[in-house]
Amino acid sequence: MKKRTIGIMGAMPEEIEGVVALLANPEVTKMGKRSYFTGQINGIDTVVVFSRWGKVAAATTVTTLIHEFKITELLFTGVAGAIHSDLKIGDIVLGKRLLQHDMDARPLMEQYEIPLLSKTYFESDTVHLAIAAKAVQKVFENKALHTVIATEDLMQFDIAQPKLVIGDIASGDQFFSGNEQKQGLATQLPNVLCVEMEGAAVAQVCYEYEIPFSIIRTISDVADDNSHIDFPAFIQKISSKYAAEIIKNIFEQI
Ligand code: SAH
Repeated sequence: MKKRTIGIMGAMPEEIEGVVALLANPEVTKMGKRSYFTGQINGIDTVVVFSRWGKVAAATTVTTLIHEFKITELLFTGVAGAIHSDLKIGDIVLGKRLLQHDMDARPLMEQYEIPLLSKTYFESDTVHLAIAAKAVQKVFENKALHTVIATEDLMQFDIAQPKLVIGDIASGDQFFSGNEQKQGLATQLPNVLCVEMEGAAVAQVCYEYEIPFSIIRTISDVADDNSHIDFPAFIQKISSKYAAEIIKNIFEQI
């Protein structure tokens, strides 16, 4: 059997800091403007890295994790903009299916279809999805949530009872910050829960190399004209805390 090595990519440098702090015997390798932190969590070899933003950056980072660090599984955490109206800031979406909303090679193939793969969606497998779901739910238990995050920080972002939703995530090289842009995507792809800039690129590379993956996204904004969110504060007070806790909970199960 291949030796198990888990790759963890974070879409925010602040998220990475909390996860790197979990590593025993940490070492850093610098390559291509990225710092790869290696070590062990609960005795399992782990590599942690900031993905950088956008599909090309994220695809390059995961490819390096596969070739240079021989990862056998991939966990991705980051923030995302809500597309579905049921989602609130502080909720978490687990990607069951990942799609690239800016892929369009018509008339050669259907809109959103990935060339040469005859696929539109990359699916996360049920085993890894279940582990990640359990890890998130554990953070959301009322007592746990208030232990991990200060009550006043939860109140600042109006987070009362955050929920986990599992479903479709759309990725593309666009930051969504307008009602029209958001409505356009919601109309075209009614099943999409949230939008971000890396997940489906990472999922494509993992699919091509047969690496199981989990894409975990905290809703940081609602992707419209009214997204007045204090990003740095949200990352520091909420999503980076979620990320470290979820990773800890995942390692407790594996
Ligand atoms: N600009 C912010 C945060 C970076 S935005 C800052 O000043 O720090 C880019 C990251 O946020 C990407 O990882 C992307 O996947 C995610 N993201 C969050 N909300 C998004 C939205 N509404 N549209 C697209 N990507 C979003």
